[in-house]
Amino acid sequence: MMRTLTKSISGWGRYPVQSCELLRPEKYADLHAYTDSCIARGQGRSYGDASLNKDHAVILTERLNRFVRFDHQKGIIAAEAGLSLQELLAVIVPAGWFLPVTPGTQFVSLGGCVAADVHGKNHHRVGSFGQHVISFKLILADESHITCSPGENSEIFWATIGGMGLTGIIGEVTLQLIPLKNQAMRVEHHAVNDLAEMGYYDDDYTVTWLDTQRERGIAMTAHHAENPVKIKPKKSGLKPPSFLLNNYSIKLFNNLYFMRQSRKAKFTSHYQDYFYPLDAIKNWNTMYGKKGFVQYQAVFPKSSALIGVQEILKLMRKNNAVSFLSVLKRLGKPSGGLLSFPIEGLTLAMDIAFDHNTLKLLREFDHIVLAHQGRVYLAKDACLSAKNFRSMYPHYEKFLKIKHKIDPKNIFQSSLSKRLEIGH
Ligand SMILES: Cc1cc2nc3c(=O)[nH]c(=O)nc-3n(C[C@H](O)[C@H](O)[C@H](O)COP(=O)(O)OP(=O)(O)OC[C@H]3O[C@@H](n4cnc5c(N)ncnc54)[C@H](O)[C@@H]3O)c2cc1C
Repeated sequence: MMRTLTKSISGWGRYPVQSCELLRPEKYADLHAYTDSCIARGQGRSYGDASLNKDHAVILTERLNRFVRFDHQKGIIAAEAGLSLQELLAVIVPAGWFLPVTPGTQFVSLGGCVAADVHGKNHHRVGSFGQHVISFKLILADESHITCSPGENSEIFWATIGGMGLTGIIGEVTLQLIPLKNQAMRVEHHAVNDLAEMGYYDDDYTVTWLDTQRERGIAMTAHHAENPVKIKPKKSGLKPPSFLLNNYSIKLFNNLYFMRQSRKAKFTSHYQDYFYPLDAIKNWNTMYGKKGFVQYQAVFPKSSALIGVQEILKLMRKNNAVSFLSVLKRLGKPSGGLLSFPIEGLTLAMDIAFDHNTLKLLREFDHIVLAHQGRVYLAKDACLSAKNFRSMYPHYEKFLKIKHKIDPKNIFQSSLSKRLEIGH
C-alpha cells in the first residue's frame, strides 16, 4: 500500500485551497487507480480545481518524467506523462526541434497538456496540442493499460484529449515535434486602439494584450527566425513586485504597459522570453493576495466574437472590476476532443483577484458567454455551474457514454468533475 500525505493544495490561482490525499508513485509500474476516487495531477498549473480532489486521492505524476524514445530524424518523441515542457525543451531544442503547440508556461506536464488539450498562440494555424499527439498510453480504472491514437481506441483517444483526467491516467505520450532552425523569434508589436483592428494582424503566432478599461491593446505577432541569430534568454528567477495589486496599481500598470509596448515595433526575442515571459517571475501568482485569483477564460464563436467580448468588458467596468493581465486570441477549428475548449472564434482571458463579488460577476459573465453559444475553459475554471457546463459542452453526453464504459464506478473524479457533476 502506497503512503499518502494529507495536505492542503490548490491550482495556480490559489482558489480554492482543499485538503487532498497525495500519492506519489516513483515508477511507471506503480501507476494505477489507488482508491475508488482519484485524479492525476501534473504540475498543478491549471488555475482552479481540475487537479484537486477534496478529501480524496490526488496522484502526483512528477516522478514519472522519463524519456522513452527520441527519433531525431523524424522529430518524434515519447516520454512519460509527468515530464514537464521545460524538461522536454531542454532536450529537443538543441536537437533542432520544437513543440508544435505550447501554452504560456513551460512548467506544465505532457499529461496536463493532453488532458486540457491546450492551445497556443498559433491555434488559428495549427490547432491544439491533441492534434499533434501520435498516441498515448492510458491506465484505466480496471488497471488495464491501453494505447490510444486517432486510429486505435479512437473514441477513448478523443474523450481523453481535453478530458481533464477523467478517463484514466495518461502514462506515456508520443508527440510529433516541428523543426526549429534557431532559438530566435521575429516579433512585431502593433498598437490597437479599436478591438476590430486586431483582425488586421496575423502571423504564425498572434496574440493581443488587452487593456480592459480602455478597450485597446497591443497585437503581438511573431514567427521563428529563418536565419541564424545569436541570442540568449533574459534573466529568470525575478521576484514579483513588492506592491499588492489593487484597482489603482492595475490601471496604472496597464497604461504604462500600453505606452511602452506600443513604441516597440519589430524586434528579435529568444523563444523563452517570447513564449514564457511570466516564467521569469517566481511565484507571480502570489501577487493577488491571500484570497487568490481566478482566470476567467471564455471563447466566443466567430459570428458574435467581438460583441461578446465587448459585453464582458462593459460588465467589468460597470462592476469596477479590473484585470491585471488580459489577452485575446483568435482560435481556429476544434480538434475533435469531446470536452476540448477551442472552437473557431475569439478567446478572452482575464486574471481577476478573488473578492466577495467575484462569484456573482462570473455568473453574469457565464450568461453572456452562453447567450453567444460560447464556452468557459475548464483548465482555468473554478466557478462554473453544472447546468451551464452542460449547455456549453454539447459533446458531453457522448463523453459520458465512453466514461461509463471504461470507468463505470466513476473512479476518476476531481473537485472540478464533482462541481460540474461530470460522470453522474
Ligand atoms: C502562466 C500560465 C499560462 C498558461 N497558458 C495557457 C495557454 O496559453 N493555453 C492553454 O491552453 N492553457 C494555458 N495554461 C493552462 C495550462 O496549460 C493547463 O492547465 C495545463 O493542463 C496544466 O498542466 P499541468 O501539468 O500543470 O496539469 P495540472 O494542473 O496538474 O492538471 C490539469 C488537468 O490535467 C489532468 N492531468 C494532468 N496529468 C495527467 C495525467 N498524467 N493523466 C491524466 N490526466 C492528467 C488533471 O487531472 C487535470 O484535470 C496556462 C497556465 C498558466 C499557469
